[in-house]
Parts: sequence; structure tokens; C-alpha cells
Amino acid sequence: MMPFPLACLSGPGVRLLLFVWSLPFLVIGALVIFIPVGVARGVHDHRRLRAESRAARGLCPRCGYDLRASPLRCLECGRATSAARAARDDWPAIVVDE
Ligand SMILES: [Zn+2]
Repeated sequence: MMPFPLACLSGPGVRLLLFVWSLPFLVIGALVIFIPVGVARGVHDHRRLRAESRAARGLCPRCGYDLRASPLRCLECGRATSAARAARDDWPAIVVDE
């Protein structure tokens, strides 16, 4: 991956060297594949950690709305909370619309 001179242009008092860097197609292909995958994984991990942090603080994992007043469903985005899902799964008499 060393640059090599492509051209040497010279004139009165001016000398210009043009260099070219080359990369194997395998390296370019790996960069094209792994960089977007790494960015997508980073975004996914960030969203998961943010949702876990919000849930631990009693906030809606999706939008961050305070769920103290409505423990079964978020009033901002309408997402059923884990308490509502657990109640629905454990006690079929409670019907929670989704
Ligand atoms: Zn919400």
C-alpha cells in the first residue's frame, strides 16, 4: 500500500508529483462490508442499552415517558409495559388490547 508516483509535471519554477495509493479489492470489499455492519451493531447496542436504562428507571423503554402514573401502558407511545405483559400472561382474565 505504498504510494507510487504516477506522473511528474514540471514547468518553469514548478514541479508537481502525483502519487497514487492502491488497495487490493479484498481490503476494499472488507471495508465496504464490515464498516456498515459495525455501525449497525453499534446503533443496535446503543438502543438496547438505552431501553434497559429507561426500563430500570421506570420510564418507557421506547420513548422515555414516565410510567409511574400508567404502569400498564405508555400514554405517550401506547406501548404495553412488561408489567402488563406479565399480567396478561399470568392471569388470562385481564385483557390488554395491543
Ligand atoms: Zn412510550
